[in-house]
Amino acid sequence: MQIAFFNTKSYDKTYFNQSTFLKNHQITYFEVPLNLQTAKLAEGFDGVCVFVNDVLDEATLKKLAGIGVKIIALRCAGFNNVDLEAAHRLSLPVVRVPAYSPESVAEHAVALILTLNRKTHRAYNRVREGNFSIEHLTGFNLFNKTIGVIGTGLIGASFCKIMLGFGCKVLAYDIQENPSLVAEGVSYTSLRELFAQTDVLSLHCPLIPATTHLINAETISQMKPGVMIINTSRGGLVDTKAAIEGLKTGQIGYLGIDVYEQEANLFFKDHADNVIQDDVIARLISFPNVLVTGHLGFFTQEALEEIAHITLQNLTEFEEHIPLTNQVKLPK
Ligand code: NAD
Repeated sequence: MQIAFFNTKSYDKTYFNQSTFLKNHQITYFEVPLNLQTAKLAEGFDGVCVFVNDVLDEATLKKLAGIGVKIIALRCAGFNNVDLEAAHRLSLPVVRVPAYSPESVAEHAVALILTLNRKTHRAYNRVREGNFSIEHLTGFNLFNKTIGVIGTGLIGASFCKIMLGFGCKVLAYDIQENPSLVAEGVSYTSLRELFAQTDVLSLHCPLIPATTHLINAETISQMKPGVMIINTSRGGLVDTKAAIEGLKTGQIGYLGIDVYEQEANLFFKDHADNVIQDDVIARLISFPNVLVTGHLGFFTQEALEEIAHITLQNLTEFEEHIPLTNQVKLPK
């Protein structure tokens, strides 16, 4: 198949070109993101391959279908950037990579917790300046702390197991409980109870209407003063302005985010020579107890290999008219 690959970075080319699943597919790599303006580049291609911040709204999907594109292959797990109803109407199947390496994201969430808590980023900078003072670098033991996990699917389950290994009490909330986690020591509870008891809250549920701004002024006020909030899932789960207010009053003690609601205009690009126009992220970055990483939870060698393999397998299934294992179905 001829595939138009949007939003290409060097690592995409490396891992897709070396994949043993490349077979007969021919990929043309475009650096530009996919949106209504760039969709015309896909003319003559059988499919498009896109990432988390490409725009697949109704207008873009119509344009793609109109120029002969037959399949949308997401090289990621989340699909909140796709108008699934429009894709369905246009008979455009959408495939994704539901699980490539849940541990990659779970371990990144832990990295955010440990960095914020033990302030290794600040210690590193101090020592490089010849400053070996440990003043203001006090952390806390994770052992015996209560960790709240919202969403115990693949990534959340992996995260729960790591935190149990630290000797933490793990509380969880999910619309579907996972009995094997209960057997390992995780306790499911209501959201309200989870907010009230949690020292470190980590978000691992998808961004859907029910979870949009799940972390807002009201839910923040239900949390323990000084709570640590970690979001490696999707930016829209957190009302960022409410989080900033919570940080200013100290109700939120620490915030670690790998995703941000307005990340599409910012992430995956070098803005070092520009004035950042987004005042919300600029304010966030200014807090000493906030850590922002630019959506790299997934970014391990193992995950990149899996993403390439599964995306190419998804395309092969479509080409060979085999039922699509990883098709995103319309929610009922
Ligand atoms: P998953 O589908 O395995 O798990 C999601 C869990 O959330 C499920 O158990 C589901 O029942 C639960 N859930 C659904 N609606 C809920 C609700 N209203 N309240 C509470 N829980 C609810 O997904 P996953 O692979 O574990 O991924 C989780 C999220 O992580 C994805 O949606 C994606 O947005 C994000 N993600 C981020 C990165 C990154 O690089 N930072 C990489 C991959 C995935």
